[in-house]
Amino acid sequence: METLYHSTRDARDTMSSKQAILTGIAPDGGLFVCDNITQATVDLAAICAQEYHATARDVLGTLLSDFTADEIAACVEGAYGEQWDTKAITPLTPIGADWLLELYHGPTCAFKDVALQMLPRLMSVARTSAGDGKNVMILTATSGDTGKAALEGFADVAGTGVTVFYPDGKVSDVQRLQMVCQRGGNVAVAGIRGNFDDAQTEVKRIFADDAIRGRLADAGCVLSSANSINVGRLVPQVTYYFDAYSQLVRSGTITVGEQIDFCVPTGNFGDVLAGYYAKLLGLPVGRLIVASNANNVLTDFITTGTYDRRRTFHKTISPSMDILVSSNLERLVYYLSGGDCELIASYMADLANKGHYTVSPAILEKLQADFGCGCADDDATRATIRATWNELGVLIDTHTAVGKAVLDEYPNEGRQRVCLSTASPYKFSADVLAALGHDVSGLDGFACMDKLEALTNTTAPEQLSGLRSAAERHTAVCDRDEMGAFVEDACARIFA
Ligand SMILES: *Cc1c(COP(=O)(O)O)cnc(C)c1O
Repeated sequence: METLYHSTRDARDTMSSKQAILTGIAPDGGLFVCDNITQATVDLAAICAQEYHATARDVLGTLLSDFTADEIAACVEGAYGEQWDTKAITPLTPIGADWLLELYHGPTCAFKDVALQMLPRLMSVARTSAGDGKNVMILTATSGDTGKAALEGFADVAGTGVTVFYPDGKVSDVQRLQMVCQRGGNVAVAGIRGNFDDAQTEVKRIFADDAIRGRLADAGCVLSSANSINVGRLVPQVTYYFDAYSQLVRSGTITVGEQIDFCVPTGNFGDVLAGYYAKLLGLPVGRLIVASNANNVLTDFITTGTYDRRRTFHKTISPSMDILVSSNLERLVYYLSGGDCELIASYMADLANKGHYTVSPAILEKLQADFGCGCADDDATRATIRATWNELGVLIDTHTAVGKAVLDEYPNEGRQRVCLSTASPYKFSADVLAALGHDVSGLDGFACMDKLEALTNTTAPEQLSGLRSAAERHTAVCDRDEMGAFVEDACARIFA
């Protein structure tokens, strides 16, 4: 099957997956989608007899058809190697009667590594075979975890640079240090006075700014995205849904063909959308449960069919889910609409101009058939961390705890249930420690890490504890209207 990609808002211009990966976001502001994904199927029986790397090759080969088998194999080999602290890559472990899919064993201790160790490799291949030899500047807004994962993935990859903006004061100590201490000759990092949505909105505007694009093109540089809107980010995440299923089959918990449910702590809707792609490709998925924190715009959307971003932004203890506009949702609504680009364009225009849109009854019905939802505020999140440690002896981070809290409340429909665990608890030591009932006032991130180790008799990952002695290299903080100039300066410096 040939996978051709086009914008969610206009089907006329199609391109190969390599071009879609290089381009990032469509020129009209839409996201790249592929129509025949529902016809493609992967061999489930084969997947249930193999491990992560083979499944990654199958899934990537299916969704990115213009990459050769050798190209895919080399990318998989490089992305899922020694930088992971387990050969299983994403091990499945029991949590009470349910399962925890541990997605945080990569270099930055958060699930975004699964995709961001892969994306630069895909881009590098695409750049040599389908690109025009231009340098690629990756431009990313981050609520914390993406930024570091992008920096780590792209650092010193030839022909690429990476610029990351994070909301200053709205990421944890350790998250900030992870970014500002990043090594590499092709990286640029700045804090933004504003929240994540401000940063993301401005990044989108820069992508659409013809003057900036023109000046960069003259200097031999194109902008691209590492945000979860990039096809090359989304596709690698599909693998672990299949692999989780395979692990359950290999352990004798389920038989091939039996449905299972997934509960996904959700922000920009990339992770859970990958689960929907897995389902479209033939994975027996019962329900995809979308778990939100106090920023519960998706809970309301799935319940009512109205997406309304006109609401208060809450800063929570699960900051990577503090999002009011979940970009990847546009792809889901596209598929649920049966591929109606005009309709999607009108919904997105409503969202941009009025701040809300309402899907048709037919779309809502399909949405509710596949998806469940729920939300947990910070108190419920803390109570879940405490109960999960005290009763089950499992230490989970604040994002995972939102998922677990929602799953615990969700009616059990009689299937095996997998909760995605998206970060190491040590990435959010202070909030985890506080949730366990300890006074953290006056303690910095590292003191919290030490205390958490002593208390739980577990060990902080070296990638985090080692930041203690790392040098801060990137200290810039700027206003939203200075971001464009920052990007141009970074390109000039890096690609000089
Ligand atoms: C990014 C992130 C999420 C949310 O994932 P989306 O793909 O944006 O929905 C959840 N947890 C953690 C730790 C993250 O970094």
